[in-house]
Amino acid sequence: MTAAPASPWEFLDLRVLRTQALGPSMRRIVFGGPDVDRFRSGGRDQRFKLFLPQPGESTPLVPTAAGADWYAHWRRLDPARRAVMRSYTVRAQRPGELAVDFALHDGTGPAGRWAAAAAPGEHVLALGPTDPDNAGIDFRPPDGTDWVLLAADLTALPAVAGITAWLGAERPWLPVRAWIEVPYERDRQELAAPIADADVRWVARGGLPGAVLGACALPPGTPYAWLAGEAGCVRTLRRHLIADRGFDRARITFTGYWRRGATEEDLLAEAA
Ligand SMILES: Cc1cc2nc3c(=O)[nH]c(=O)nc-3n(C[C@H](O)[C@H](O)[C@H](O)COP(=O)(O)OP(=O)(O)OC[C@H]3O[C@@H](n4cnc5c(N)ncnc54)[C@H](O)[C@@H]3O)c2cc1C
Repeated sequence: MTAAPASPWEFLDLRVLRTQALGPSMRRIVFGGPDVDRFRSGGRDQRFKLFLPQPGESTPLVPTAAGADWYAHWRRLDPARRAVMRSYTVRAQRPGELAVDFALHDGTGPAGRWAAAAAPGEHVLALGPTDPDNAGIDFRPPDGTDWVLLAADLTALPAVAGITAWLGAERPWLPVRAWIEVPYERDRQELAAPIADADVRWVARGGLPGAVLGACALPPGTPYAWLAGEAGCVRTLRRHLIADRGFDRARITFTGYWRRGATEEDLLAEAA
């Protein structure tokens, strides 16, 4: 597997340019602003940290002047005042614009609530890569990969779109099998990628483990699997692929994008 390179990340000043409803459960926010072109996405599942202002504040409070120690300083700030920090994926980038798709998940978290109400001109900060070859990309099929399995929920749909676009451009010959769980049929999106052998299945809410665990036929050859979504669901899928389907654990990239009953801050506190 190609090692993920270390690379510089910077705080970048972004502004909401426009918004678009993508279905009942997701909203696209297109950012511009003074630093948008210094953000250099490497595509695929390019992740970054987003800092949102607290309700009633116009600017996200982030100790950017603390340099490499910003995180320790941010943790010491009053949680009611410091910026809300969450992980997101670049859905698309073009000159002057960076698009991010937000799952709204019924307004249960501050980022989802912010996204539901965001309006042009609002100010956010990103901690983003300034080099497209960066450590915030996890989708890295190892040499010898014959086909790719993707499993995702709505939060990882932007990453799947980025991955299929990258595969279409870089490895269009690799067969792709994808299972994507969405709350409603109208949350499905067109994944426009010129992949010769792509089979994308849309799965109803709560159906992801069952759909992949079902007795579906998989292509022959050596697979590479990329799994992302709710942490418990991702764990179940990974176990199944290793124990029941004979996948090599080194050929599975898996990431819990959120965990039922825990905020992203809870998860960060656990990891600290
Ligand atoms: C690398 C990475 C990339 C990500 N990319 C994206 C992306 O592009 N788009 C995107 O929408 N999300 C993405 N996520 C997931 C997103 O960061 C989380 O959903 C985050 O918890 C949302 O923050 P919040 O403030 O709305 O909710 P939080 O305050 O973190 O959580 C509040 C409550 O809502 C629950 N919750 C959180 N997310 C969901 C959900 N999706 N559905 C149901 N309940 C939920 C939590 O369990 C908790 O009980 C990504 C996560 C990671 C780690």
